Amino acid sequence: MTRYTYLRPPSLAAALDALAAPGAVPLGGGSDLLPSIDEGLLTPSAVVDVQALPGFDDIGRGADGALRLGAGVRIDTVAQHPLVREHAALLAAAAAAVGSPALRNMGTLGGNLAQRQRCWYLRRGVACFKNGGDHCAAYAGEHSYHAIFDTGPCHAVHPSDPSVALEALDAQVEVASQRGTRVLAVAALYEGAAHNRVREVTLADDELIVAVRIPAESLGGVWHWEKTIQRGAFDFALVSCAALRRSDGVVRMALGGVAAGPWRTPLSVEEDVASGGLDADSIDALAERALYDATPLDGTRYKVRIAQALLRRAMSVLTAS
Ligand SMILES: Cc1cc2nc3c(=O)[nH]c(=O)nc-3n(C[C@H](O)[C@H](O)[C@H](O)COP(=O)(O)OP(=O)(O)OC[C@H]3O[C@@H](n4cnc5c(N)ncnc54)[C@H](O)[C@@H]3O)c2cc1C
Ligand code: SF4
Repeated sequence: MTRYTYLRPPSLAAALDALAAPGAVPLGGGSDLLPSIDEGLLTPSAVVDVQALPGFDDIGRGADGALRLGAGVRIDTVAQHPLVREHAALLAAAAAAVGSPALRNMGTLGGNLAQRQRCWYLRRGVACFKNGGDHCAAYAGEHSYHAIFDTGPCHAVHPSDPSVALEALDAQVEVASQRGTRVLAVAALYEGAAHNRVREVTLADDELIVAVRIPAESLGGVWHWEKTIQRGAFDFALVSCAALRRSDGVVRMALGGVAAGPWRTPLSVEEDVASGGLDADSIDALAERALYDATPLDGTRYKVRIAQALLRRAMSVLTAS
């Protein structure tokens, strides 16, 4: 059993001080962190409970019109909150698709974005590339839920549904440490995740996600969210799709379940969708083109067809009105 210190700091500054200690990790709802400690994936010296930090669960509009959600907001609140439903319904829909009601009530937005991937080799202590070894056990093994883009050295996909919607919304993540605050695009949060041996996000050990910001130009518009799962009950995405036609006409589309982070479709495809006037044939052609760079493994070829089907439906919705 791993022994660690439990800390519940009263302020953000105190939390950042606590996280600066070697081996300290942030604790959100604990729905991924605590099982990860039990599974031996992680042996922290301290867990720093950030759930009760002042303002950490606030949702509101900034002076620039952006919608700002604290990292401590529960996933269920993201799904239900009137401001999110009115202005960023795409994110609300993606949050509503997360796991079960219990997980949505427990999980926080920050924890959801920073959760580790679910590859069973990793979770069962196999010494793979992400777990002290030098190769990917899934590559020659069972990998039917794994990536089709940018695969390797790690072929796992990131499980976060909200991250896919946030990618389509051009959202930014505010990150804080004792050194100050920085802001990064959601895509930058997962940059290099397949090459990173120890984590999937580009956070330093002492950094904390404090909020997510959705820019004013991404609020409103026409949106589409769809998630395919294998089981009839709650499940991680085989493939998901978040799509948005903003009020200014710009189109953004992203896929989940296909890469080590949310996968943005090529800009040229988004621009062609934005230009409108698409018939069924041109939608088919664009869906093919969007998946042109896919390099599936033997067991993940089926995901290419699912992704194309989801994109076809998304494009039909975005161009219908
Ligand atoms: C059976 C099951 C099904 C699931 N299905 C889905 C699904 O369909 N879709 C989906 O999106 N997710 C799914 N999840 C994941 C679940 O939603 C996450 O476990 C949860 O969102 C994590 O949030 P948390 O607040 O509990 O994070 P925690 O468990 O507290 O933390 C997770 C990780 O993030 C770090 N962390 C926590 N807060 C922060 C922060 N503010 N800044 C930086 N790092 C932080 C922790 O140190 C830890 O490494 C599922 C999980 C399970 C167990
Ligand atoms: S996909 Fe990633 S986590 Fe899974 S076995 Fe390969 S290297 Fe390990």
